Amino acid sequence: MRIAVLSDIHANREALDAILERATELGAERYWVLGDIVGYGADPDGVVEQVRALPAEVLAGNHDLATVGLFDLEWFNAAAAAAVQWTQQVISGTTLEYLEGLTPSSENEQALLVHGSPRDPAAEYVTDVFVAAASFELLADGLCFFGHTHVPRAFALSPAGDHPMEGRIREIPLDAGEPLRLAGGTRYLINPGSVGQPRDGDPRAALAIFDGESVTLHRVSYAVEGAQRKIRRAGLPEWLADRLAVGR
Ligand code: ZN
Repeated sequence: MRIAVLSDIHANREALDAILERATELGAERYWVLGDIVGYGADPDGVVEQVRALPAEVLAGNHDLATVGLFDLEWFNAAAAAAVQWTQQVISGTTLEYLEGLTPSSENEQALLVHGSPRDPAAEYVTDVFVAAASFELLADGLCFFGHTHVPRAFALSPAGDHPMEGRIREIPLDAGEPLRLAGGTRYLINPGSVGQPRDGDPRAALAIFDGESVTLHRVSYAVEGAQRKIRRAGLPEWLADRLAVGR
């Protein structure tokens, strides 16, 4: 079974539509959505409607939690906080109720899913091997998918052995179209990048396909101008529209 792993959609309907189309082409039968469905972007009801229709396991991110009053806005920068407050004003009762029902972590037979990290599922950024080390301590075995940083990236920890890199945490680049084959006995932390607000310098939307044995990143071009127009029309901070064009 192929599972499409998506994160950080951030109310970008144009990016989500393009990603779902590609996921279907790639044979995805299920979806894992790692949170931050809303925030930053200007189409919160549109993306929630799309996500609700998927055969999916769906998490809340810090922006979703802030929108429903379960995460303190003082942790957000001014543009992010403004977008949360705008989202609170415009979303439908159905969207609000849906977001209220989500949590920032879940576990299934194949993987642990978190928005931030296993240590702090709502808020911690796994940005390097040092933060990853704390997460691996809480990951008994196998596989964890995480989001929140908006940067596609994988960390691996293989059992201690003769090779000098065994027993140490490695960062593994995730390149689009290059499958990362999962080795037995090795633990992995994998970030599929962001659908709606990539921050690795590549403005294309990102998703990962997990087939039980490997994880492959895919990047998809979408109508960035459409998402930007909605952000400007909503009166949200200009920077939130600008950054979509450069992937930062
Ligand atoms: Zn996010």
